[in-house]
Amino acid sequence: MPKATETTLEIDLNALGHNYLYLSSIIKPETKVLAVVKAFGYGSDAIIVAKELITLGADYFAVAYASEGEALRDAGIETPILVLHPLPANFSLVLNRCLEPSIYSRKMLLEFIAFAEDQKQRNYPIHLKFNTGLNRLGFGKGDVSFISETLSKTESVKVKSAFSHLAASEDLSEENFTRTQLDSFRSISKELSEKLGYSPILHTLNTSGIINYPDAELDMVRTGIGLYGFGNDPQENKQLKPVATLKTVISQIHYIQPGETVGYNRAFEASQITKTATLPIGHADGISRSYGNEIGWVTIRDQKVPIIGNVCMDMIMVDISSIECNEGDEVVIFGDNPTAKDLSSSIGSIPYELLTAISPRIKRVICRK
Ligand SMILES: *Cc1c(COP(=O)(O)O)cnc(C)c1O
Repeated sequence: MPKATETTLEIDLNALGHNYLYLSSIIKPETKVLAVVKAFGYGSDAIIVAKELITLGADYFAVAYASEGEALRDAGIETPILVLHPLPANFSLVLNRCLEPSIYSRKMLLEFIAFAEDQKQRNYPIHLKFNTGLNRLGFGKGDVSFISETLSKTESVKVKSAFSHLAASEDLSEENFTRTQLDSFRSISKELSEKLGYSPILHTLNTSGIINYPDAELDMVRTGIGLYGFGNDPQENKQLKPVATLKTVISQIHYIQPGETVGYNRAFEASQITKTATLPIGHADGISRSYGNEIGWVTIRDQKVPIIGNVCMDMIMVDISSIECNEGDEVVIFGDNPTAKDLSSSIGSIPYELLTAISPRIKRVICRK
């Protein structure tokens, strides 16, 4: 890679390919892979990532909102797209762009059927989401009869899949709870298939689920964070490569005298002569204001430099007293060192949050390392 000359998010499609192939290698060959590309492909570039995943063999995509599915369709992507959180206000968008809604309540099922009938649809694919303990979205166990009776009265929709989402698949201390969720989904899906008279695609596992609960693969797995290079434990992480690397450059170097301060609210005060670098990236770019004041570090020439003072909207300052470097030099905010996991964990956050927060104003550069 040429050195960065401005703030850049590098998206390594070879790392994506590596992660896809690794995750595919640990599931059964016949299990379908649904790639989660919501939130701009976890902050990367949903369209480029989705196109690459098609060449790698992904069977399905999922997005959170209908507008995200629309963007994929606009880019010419024809793979089936599950919309995890469509709202009735977007039903016409869903239908017009052949997006497949997750239906999670009685009210929504009736509304979608009414809409599909009105639009003269036949067997429009829908996905039924069941709540087995996350208590976020989903039908309950007691809804299966209602669902099958309702569906028996219409030809407008057909259940393509039924699924549930685990609350703590990454946390083995919650294994008993997770097993309860999986058992509950098994009994719900059995009852559903019997009552429908056909078997929809069944799926429950996200990335950590794939790693920790291989016996619950069912027909399809839904992987998001793993594709982008992060698991939820060190063992997993070793097998995966970070797709995104956030780089910037040193805009200016200052020598701060003892007693002088740096940044807003004078939050950093030098106790000795301190060499600082100002970097063109701030909280408007996704670098939370929880960093700063020695919380969080980035690297210059592979050496750690702490973020000092308060994070500004468009800039941060780092202490480079012990580093040989110049204005214009490259800085790694996250990538291999620190990883998005290292950086985010310094503020008690997770790679999911850091990656998806990276502002669209930061240039994406696609590469194959
Ligand atoms: C975001 C999401 C996923 C992906 O989870 P990862 O932990 O990123 O693999 C899977 N299923 C649902 C319902 C989701 O919302």
